[in-house]
Amino acid sequence: MRILLLGGTGEARALAARLHPGHEIVSSLAGRVPDPALPVGPVRIGSFGGADGLRQWLRDNDIDAVVDATHPFAATMTAHAAQVCDELDLPHLVLSRPAWDATDAVRVASDIEAAEFVAAQGFSRVFLTTGRSGVKPFTDSDAWFLIRVVTPPDPEVLPHHHEVLLSRGPYGYNDEYTLVRDNSIDVLVTKNSGGALTEAKLQAAKALGVTVVMIDRPPLPAGATAVATVDDAVAWVAAIEPHQSSEHSSSSG
Ligand code: NAP
Repeated sequence: MRILLLGGTGEARALAARLHPGHEIVSSLAGRVPDPALPVGPVRIGSFGGADGLRQWLRDNDIDAVVDATHPFAATMTAHAAQVCDELDLPHLVLSRPAWDATDAVRVASDIEAAEFVAAQGFSRVFLTTGRSGVKPFTDSDAWFLIRVVTPPDPEVLPHHHEVLLSRGPYGYNDEYTLVRDNSIDVLVTKNSGGALTEAKLQAAKALGVTVVMIDRPPLPAGATAVATVDDAVAWVAAIEPHQSSEHSSSSG
């Protein structure tokens, strides 16, 4: 059985490490980030060419099952994978890490709503962590922005007053606290990405009395089977490959 593992996250790399080499996997990365952290095992890089391209790729590569461990906001990839697996009757799983507790945050449905809220409340020092594609709604704002991204945003979308901080997590509490304090941030705008690697900014914001605006996740495709942990994804793979799993355990035991 050959499994396509849609990746680009720490969870996807952790899952690849658990499945390879006992299971036949191919990890897929979008190829948007220069010098990406690579999972163990075979990797392909680049878009498939929409749902049609994915369908063809799954056929050409004799894929029997798909685990979608992309970022919780990678909604297009997730929708395509769910649709095509449904059409081809392939086992399909979404590995989606638990969301952050948004109880203390101002919840909004989109980056556009986040920008409207920031403008309406008159915030002046914004820590923006919504990724390079999340800058555009803030272009015309008069506030100052600390924009933390992995890859630089297009220059034409940058707001008038800003600093771009190129970096990649994980981030620790002390560094986040210092960054938020030293830049006199009054509002943090973030997606509800979940996960421990970038969570410290929330605790730092809380400690410093900084408002958090949190963008809700897009919903998962209707009817999709989803798990929240790498362990559960490993168990799902074992369950769809009972024969191969028992052969492995008996040959290794
Ligand atoms: P997206 O909007 O759902 O994806 C846009 C297109 O990029 C997809 O339709 C697909 O192109 C291609 N693509 C996305 N993930 C792919 C993968 N793993 N393998 C091959 N092609 C892929 O997602 P995105 O926000 O651009 O995210 C792209 C990648 O960055 C994902 O792997 C995601 O896990 C990672 N990432 C995203 C975020 C975020 O906040 N969105 C944060 C961190 C990491 P085709 O339709 O042409 O196949």
